[in-house]
Amino acid sequence: MSEPLYHAPTAEPEPRAERRAPDAPRTILTGLKRGVRRRCPNCGEGPLFAGYLKVEPVCPRCGNDNGCYPADDGPAYFTIFLIGHLVIAPGLALTVLRGWSPLGLLAVGLPTVATLTLAALPFIKGAWIGVLWGVGGGKP
Ligand SMILES: [Zn+2]
Repeated sequence: MSEPLYHAPTAEPEPRAERRAPDAPRTILTGLKRGVRRRCPNCGEGPLFAGYLKVEPVCPRCGNDNGCYPADDGPAYFTIFLIGHLVIAPGLALTVLRGWSPLGLLAVGLPTVATLTLAALPFIKGAWIGVLWGVGGGKP
């Protein structure tokens, strides 16, 4: 007698409603903190991203629709804004005040800006999505 090729699941999967986390207080600060940690803004436990910047469309922990929040260019704008103020302005000041060579500044500044931008972007995108969750934004 041979083994069957297919084993039917023995237990029913949990209905989606039972996996839901209790409703979290929907505040901007809660969403911001959970998003910066790159966690689902609704439960704070499930992963927000499926890759570097690809949003997990549905939270595997609570079932929240995380794909409905339009990030668009907002995270990139704030990342450039933040990194520009942290790196470029001091770099230009060093060029003027200390007499650094502009080419030397570019040689040091460009890799620094690129590295910091790529490192900060997922956290800022998470914060952006968390804030959108906090204000109740999202696609209809
Ligand atoms: Zn969740």
